[in-house]
Amino acid sequence: MIAIIGLGTGGLYAARWIAMHRRSEKIVIIEKRDYETYSPCSIPMVVEGKIKPDDIVHPFPKSRNVEILLSHEAVEIDSLEKKIKAKDLKTGAIKEIKYDRLIYAPGARPWVPPIKGADKKGVFTVRTVEDAVAISKYAENAKKALVVGAGAIGVEMAHALRMRNLEVTIVEMMEHAFPTAIDRDMAKYVDEKLRTEGIITKYGARVEEITGSEKVSGAIINGEKEDFDMVIMSTGVRPESSLLKGKVNLDEREFILVDEKMRTSDESIYAIGDCVRTPYGVIQLATTALNQAIVAAINVTGGEAVLKKPNGAFVSAFGDYEVASVGSSGKITGRGWSRLNPYSNEKIVMKVFVDDDGTITGAQAVGKGASSRIDMVSALMRNGGKIWDLAYMEKTYCPEVCELYDVIKIAAENAMRRMKIEKYEV
Ligand SMILES: Cc1cc2nc3c(=O)[nH]c(=O)nc-3n(C[C@H](O)[C@H](O)[C@H](O)COP(=O)(O)OP(=O)(O)OC[C@H]3O[C@@H](n4cnc5c(N)ncnc54)[C@H](O)[C@@H]3O)c2cc1C
Repeated sequence: MIAIIGLGTGGLYAARWIAMHRRSEKIVIIEKRDYETYSPCSIPMVVEGKIKPDDIVHPFPKSRNVEILLSHEAVEIDSLEKKIKAKDLKTGAIKEIKYDRLIYAPGARPWVPPIKGADKKGVFTVRTVEDAVAISKYAENAKKALVVGAGAIGVEMAHALRMRNLEVTIVEMMEHAFPTAIDRDMAKYVDEKLRTEGIITKYGARVEEITGSEKVSGAIINGEKEDFDMVIMSTGVRPESSLLKGKVNLDEREFILVDEKMRTSDESIYAIGDCVRTPYGVIQLATTALNQAIVAAINVTGGEAVLKKPNGAFVSAFGDYEVASVGSSGKITGRGWSRLNPYSNEKIVMKVFVDDDGTITGAQAVGKGASSRIDMVSALMRNGGKIWDLAYMEKTYCPEVCELYDVIKIAAENAMRRMKIEKYEV
C-alpha cells in the first residue's frame, strides 16, 4: 500500500502517475480539504473575476485502486510501525492507515512577518480556494488595498485587485519587484508596466504596523500612516514538515532533506514539493513539484528515477505581461530587445548569461511572450546548451506572432560578440 499525504500539485501528479503506469498498486490519499484538486496558481485570476472559484477545482480522474480520504488531516506518522493517524475533520474520529511506502506532500503554509496588527480582519494570505473567495468578497466593499511583497503572488494579486478598480499599493522591502527572479535593470520595465496600470509601488520600504481597531483601516509604512481597507500578505511560505520532525532529517529551516530519488533519511518515506530541499536546493514551484512527483512515483513503485538539476524556470504574468527567468548569471551577459511582431508596439526585453566556454547559465525576459523565450533557453540548458545553439536555433517565424530576428537571437548574438567568437557554424 502506498500512502500519500496531501493532494496538492505534488500528491496529485504522483498519484496520477502511479494510477496510469502501475495500475495494480493500491494508493490511499489523505487530504484535509473537502474538495479533490485545485490550482493555487489560478487564484489571482479568480480574484480578478476572470474565472469562478469552481473553475479551479477539479475531480481526481476515476481510478480503481485509488482511495481518496477528503476532509482527513494526517495528525501523526509512526515511521517504525509504518502507520498514519488521520483525523476525520467532519466527525473528529481518528483512522489508522498502514503503509508500505509513503509519499509526503503537504506543501507549505503562508508566512507572515511579525508586524503589529497583522491579525486584524481584512488581512489576508493567499493559498487556498477559500482565501480566493474571502478576498474577492472583502474587495467588494474595499477601495484601497495594500499588498506586502512584490514577488509573483504579490504582483499578480495587486494586478487582480487593480482590475477590480481598487487603488493598490505594493510595498516591497527589497529594491525592486521580483527580487529573486530578475535583476534591477529588468525590473525597471516591470515597474513601468505596473505604474501604467495605476499601481503604486514602494521599494526598499517596510510595513511597520497595520492599523485599525478590529479591522484594517490603514498601515504605517516607513513611519508614515496611510489609509487602506484591506491588506494582502505575500511575504513567503514555510515548509509543512512538522509530522516528520524527529523522524527524518530536516535542515535548519525545517525543509525535509531528500536525495535525488526524492527519498528522505527513512527509506520508506519519500517527500516532494514545497516542503523539501533536494541536493540542488529549494525551489517552490508547481513545475518543480510535478517533476519531483514523477521521480517519487517511479521510485516507490520499484522503478529507478533520479531528479536532474532543475533550472528553476519561472514565469509570472499579470494581464498579458510576463516576467520570466531561468538559471543564474554567468561571466558574460548578452542583452537585446525586439518587438512582439513587426507591427506591434509591445516589446520583449531579454538578457542571457554565459560562461567563458559558451555554456548558457541563465536568462531573464520581460514582456508578452517572455515565457516562451525562457522555455527555449531552459530546454537547451538541460543538456548543457551553448550560446551559439541559441543564436542560430531554428526558431519558427510568422509576422502574426513574432519577429524573424527574434529577441532571443539578438541577445545571444550580443553575448557571442562580447566573447569575441570567430568561428561560426550557423
Ligand atoms: C497564489 C499562488 C500562485 C502560484 N502560482 C504559481 C505559478 O504560476 N507557477 C508555479 O510553478 N507555481 C505557482 N505557485 C506555487 C505552487 O502552487 C506550489 O509550488 C505547488 O502547489 C507545491 O505543491 P505541493 O504539492 O508541495 O503543495 P500544495 O499544492 O500546496 O499541496 C499540499 C496539499 O497538502 C494538504 N495538506 C497539508 N497538510 C496536510 C495534512 N496534515 N493532512 C492532509 N493534507 C494536508 C493541503 O491541503 C494541500 O492540498 C503558486 C502558489 C500560490 C499559493
